[in-house]
Amino acid sequence: MNKRVFSGVRPTGRLHIGNYLGAGKNYVAMQNEYDCVYCIVDLHALTTLEDTGKLQNNIYEALLDLLAAGLDPQKSVIFVQSHVPEINELFALLSMVTPLSWLLRVPTFKEKVRLHPQNVNYGLVGYPVLMTSDILLYKADVVPVGEDQLPHLELAREIVRRFNEHFGETFPEPQAKLTNFPLVVGLDGKDKMSKSLGNHIELAATAEETTKKVMSAVTDPARKLRSDPGHPEVCNVFKLRKHFEPELITQLEADCREAKIGCVDCKRALADSINRDLAALRARRVELAAKPEYVHQVMVDGAKRAQIIARQTLDEVKSKMGLI
Ligand code: SF4
Repeated sequence: MNKRVFSGVRPTGRLHIGNYLGAGKNYVAMQNEYDCVYCIVDLHALTTLEDTGKLQNNIYEALLDLLAAGLDPQKSVIFVQSHVPEINELFALLSMVTPLSWLLRVPTFKEKVRLHPQNVNYGLVGYPVLMTSDILLYKADVVPVGEDQLPHLELAREIVRRFNEHFGETFPEPQAKLTNFPLVVGLDGKDKMSKSLGNHIELAATAEETTKKVMSAVTDPARKLRSDPGHPEVCNVFKLRKHFEPELITQLEADCREAKIGCVDCKRALADSINRDLAALRARRVELAAKPEYVHQVMVDGAKRAQIIARQTLDEVKSKMGLI
């Protein structure tokens, strides 16, 4: 039997190339090796009280992107978190075994408190327990993560150990599978690529929109003139070209250092390669967008399949905790 993978995608609307390189491509590749459970985590979106009026549309757009990227509902369980209500029950039960001190030391909690001081809600503190519940409800063995999410996974493993110690061996300790492209920096060259920072390129963007965005990207800040030698190690365009054109990267590195190529030409080449790489995905997305009833059926079928696993886990947990 294949090991089981769980991963969640936050429904922030259309996915961007950071999501695609950091997660989406791996999701597609893992379908042939693992028993995959992929979830659009709508409850997580509530922890920061984002504009919930857009939530349904955001879920739909994210699912369209994932299907267009190659997630196959015949191979993987693809569903929306809140469509399987067992998650709420496991979340409550795991809250009882998680010391508050563990949650208060999580770096992302501290960061969210800094960013949203007016909304430090109970759900925000418990966010890592909800995330752990997602993984444990489906008894996942493996979780694909970026380096920034490792503390969350470590916390999930601590909760597993504590639960298993108290109530007997129930959950596997989930292992991290670090993505090949751990952190995709945005076009500003500073922060992680993110929709909220506007430093992203949507997967579904047109070729023209993509080119316009790439041409605005920050490159090596020390390179003022075309004749200045470049420093590809500090240039985000270089990192992106490394992904989209790995076969050209050795030559590009040398040309950049010797100022044989200018940043404008380099960015134009990057835009062309992104557009080439995403052309098939974008065409599939247009086809899928014309079949909304199919996309909705994927969500319904996925939730049914996920719920079968969830019910079994929850029955076992409640029995071990003395509730049934
Ligand atoms: Fe970056 Fe390319 Fe400019 Fe070199 S030539 S600094 S890799 S954009």
